[in-house]
Amino acid sequence: MKHLLDSLPKLKEWLTRREQQPFRDAQIESWIFEKRVSSFDSMTNLPKSLRDMLAESFQLFTTSIVTHSQSDDGTEKLLLKLSDGGMIECVLLRESHRRTICISSQVGCAMGCVFCASGLDGVMRNLTAGEIVEQMLLLQKLLPVEERLSHIVMMGMGEPLANLDNVLQALSYASSPTGLGISPRRITISTVGLPAAIRRLARQDCKYQLALSLHAPNDELRNQIVPVNHKVGLEALLASVDQYFEFSGRKLTFEYVLLHGINDQECHAKELAEILKDRTALLNVIPYNPVEGLPFKTPTKKSIQRFKEIVEGAGIEIRFRQRKGDKINAACGQLRRQQLVQISTQE
Ligand code: SAH
Repeated sequence: MKHLLDSLPKLKEWLTRREQQPFRDAQIESWIFEKRVSSFDSMTNLPKSLRDMLAESFQLFTTSIVTHSQSDDGTEKLLLKLSDGGMIECVLLRESHRRTICISSQVGCAMGCVFCASGLDGVMRNLTAGEIVEQMLLLQKLLPVEERLSHIVMMGMGEPLANLDNVLQALSYASSPTGLGISPRRITISTVGLPAAIRRLARQDCKYQLALSLHAPNDELRNQIVPVNHKVGLEALLASVDQYFEFSGRKLTFEYVLLHGINDQECHAKELAEILKDRTALLNVIPYNPVEGLPFKTPTKKSIQRFKEIVEGAGIEIRFRQRKGDKINAACGQLRRQQLVQISTQE
C-alpha cells in the first residue's frame, strides 16, 4: 500500500481517475493538516465509498511510536519505527509562545561529525517526503487543538541537503497555507555544508532560513571534527552560503557546538569573529550535549563566558541555544542509539 503523504502531489489525478470530484483533494488535505485526523474514516464530509477506496489504496500513517518521552521543560520526543524497521527521532520544543519541532531527514547520517550520535552507525537511507511530513503531523497531534506549530528546524537525524528533493517536497506542505501554514522564515534547514547543494537551494528555493554547522574557524580544525570538510574546504563553503544570502536576503545562521578543549579557546573565538564580522549573520552557540561512548565534554562555564565575550566584543550577533530535554536524550540520534544498543544487547 502507498503512503498517502507521499502521494499527495498526485492525489487530484488519483481522484479524477476514479471519477471523484477534484475538490475532494482539498478536503482530504484539510482533514490531515488542519483537523489532525488519524484515519480515513474520520473524514466525515467524504462519501463513505471514497473513504473505503482511500483506505484500500493508501496508508495514512506508516510509522509506529516506539517511545514517547516528556521532560519537565515541556520538551517531548518521539522515537518512530518506519515500515521497514528503521528508526528515527523527532522532538517538540515549547518555549513561551513558540512550538518548534525538530525533525529528521534520513535514517542515520553519512556525514560522520565526530561528536554526533546520529552518524555513529552510518546512514541507512533517505526518508521519503511522506515520512518527513508524518513527523510534523505526529508532533502536531501532541498539541492541544487551539495550539499550532510555529517553527520547524531540520536538525534531527541526517543531512537534509543530502536528501534535498524529499526535504523540499515535505517543506512545501509545511509552508503552504493549505498545509501547516508555517511561514518559510520560521523554517530552518540546517546543513553540515555541502556547497553544490547549497547553491542549488539558493537557485531553486531560497525562501527558507539556512543554518550552517560551522563548528570550527579554520580548515585544519574543521577537517578533524567535521570530516566532510576535507572534500569541501571553508573557502568554497563560505562562498556558497554567501550566494544563498545574496539570493535569499535572509540572515545566515552559523552553528557552533562548543567542545571542551577542542574548539572553545580564545584563539578560536577570535578567528570565528573574523569570519563572521563582514557577514549578515547570527552565531548560534550550542554547548555540547554529551553522547555516551564519545570522549567529548561540555566546556566549563568560564570558557563559555570568555568565548561569548570575545565574539560579542567583535560586534557579532550571538545566541546561546539552551539545552532542552537533556534528560530525555533530546540531542540528535541519542535516543535511537540507546534503543539500538538495547536491542543489540538483548539479542
Ligand atoms: N546534518 C545537519 C543537521 C543535523 S544536526 C547539520 O549538520 O547541521 C543539527 C545540529 O546539532 C548540528 O549543528 C549538529 O552539529 C549539532 N549536534 C549534533 N550532535 C550534537 C550534540 N551532541 N550536542 C550539541 N549539538 C550537536
